[in-house]
Amino acid sequence: MDKHVIEDVDGFCKELRPIEDLCYLERRYNDQLVPLARKYRLLGMHIPKELGGRGADEYTYARSLVRIGMEGSGIRSFFSAHSSLAQSTLLRYGNDKQYEDYLKPSVRGEKVLAFALTEPDAGSNPLDMRATARLDGDCYILNGTKYLITNATIADAIIVFAKTDNNRISAFIIDMDKSVEREELTAKMGTPTTDTGMFELSDYRVARENLIGKEGEGWDIAKEALMNGRLSVAAGCVGSIRDCLAEVIRYAKERVQYGKPIAKHQLIQEHIATMRVNLSASTTMLTRAVALKERWERDRDNKNLKKIADRAIAEAKLFCSSAAYDASDRAVQIFGGRGWSYLYRVGRHFVDNRVCRIYEGTDEILKLKIASSILGKEFRAYS
Ligand SMILES: Cc1cc2nc3c(=O)[nH]c(=O)nc-3n(C[C@H](O)[C@H](O)[C@H](O)COP(=O)(O)OP(=O)(O)OC[C@H]3O[C@@H](n4cnc5c(N)ncnc54)[C@H](O)[C@@H]3O)c2cc1C
Repeated sequence: MDKHVIEDVDGFCKELRPIEDLCYLERRYNDQLVPLARKYRLLGMHIPKELGGRGADEYTYARSLVRIGMEGSGIRSFFSAHSSLAQSTLLRYGNDKQYEDYLKPSVRGEKVLAFALTEPDAGSNPLDMRATARLDGDCYILNGTKYLITNATIADAIIVFAKTDNNRISAFIIDMDKSVEREELTAKMGTPTTDTGMFELSDYRVARENLIGKEGEGWDIAKEALMNGRLSVAAGCVGSIRDCLAEVIRYAKERVQYGKPIAKHQLIQEHIATMRVNLSASTTMLTRAVALKERWERDRDNKNLKKIADRAIAEAKLFCSSAAYDASDRAVQIFGGRGWSYLYRVGRHFVDNRVCRIYEGTDEILKLKIASSILGKEFRAYS
């Protein structure tokens, strides 16, 4: 565990608090987040030191995301998109020029990244995507709309997935220049601490060298990125449960009703005990998933280990996101009327945590994935 990274994450989170307050009160993303993350050198925590990053191992990175998750799933979403999804993909599949043009600047905080798989008509099943990439000399011409994308309107460059020849998916890194029409999606229920948007590419020309990996390899690249993304959601959710628990312990001891602190009422204790059990279970599942992922990273040709790690990550994401939603619901209940407000942290967690059961694989899709991984592909409930 790299204690310097953990300390910097903690410093960042503490300094972030007034900015968080603004986001919830104004109900929109605040652009001070990135400069603050840059100040604490957190924009490439898991990227090797040779490339300018902090070189954090899987455990340090997960622990950092747990701490960031204590500040809410919105802030953690920023890191999921920029680091877990986009930077990890570039690190694994990017070429030397992509390292120079995108990965290193993103680590320095000069370029914010995003990862765009989802479209209006292709969510749970990205294979239905309509975005296309047609090779034309030294360029690909991209057309399509990407929807519900974290960091979409603040990103300088985005990893975009589109169908090339033979209906196969390919991945590209593209600059967000003026030709790209972008729109912020502001009518969200929660996560005002992060930017969510959509964009449209019409006859966008991108150099051939911006293809990530090989043509047609995009779906495998995306699935691997989603392992990283799901792990980061699970870690953030553990942080959220931890913060909700800390808040309710403090509040339940202070708040007096019927002549005694509400912490002495047995039904309040039932909520607290359940939250604690779910925190323990979530932490254990996260740790197991991180350990398996770390083992597979050291033995990447081991397909069986990859399958086991992939399943453990899906299990952790499924469990931790539901546990976090439940914990924030119980925390709101313990806070009573005050909980139903953005002025209190538990109310913020409650609205933010709901989306954790939707993105990076919905509850339903993850259950199907876990079941088919046990039953065998021939029993897969989706094609
Ligand atoms: C705030 C936010 C940020 C996001 N950030 C990103 C991002 O950065 N990049 C990105 O690419 N995407 C992002 N997404 C998109 C997200 O990944 C999708 O919303 C998610 O995959 C679900 O797709 P959908 O919303 O189209 O729902 P749909 O796929 O339409 O699903 C609707 C419902 O049907 C269920 N369903 C679908 N198929 C099946 C099936 N076979 N069996 C059983 N049930 C099924 C689903 O589980 C769900 O309950 C983000 C979404 C949100 C809300």
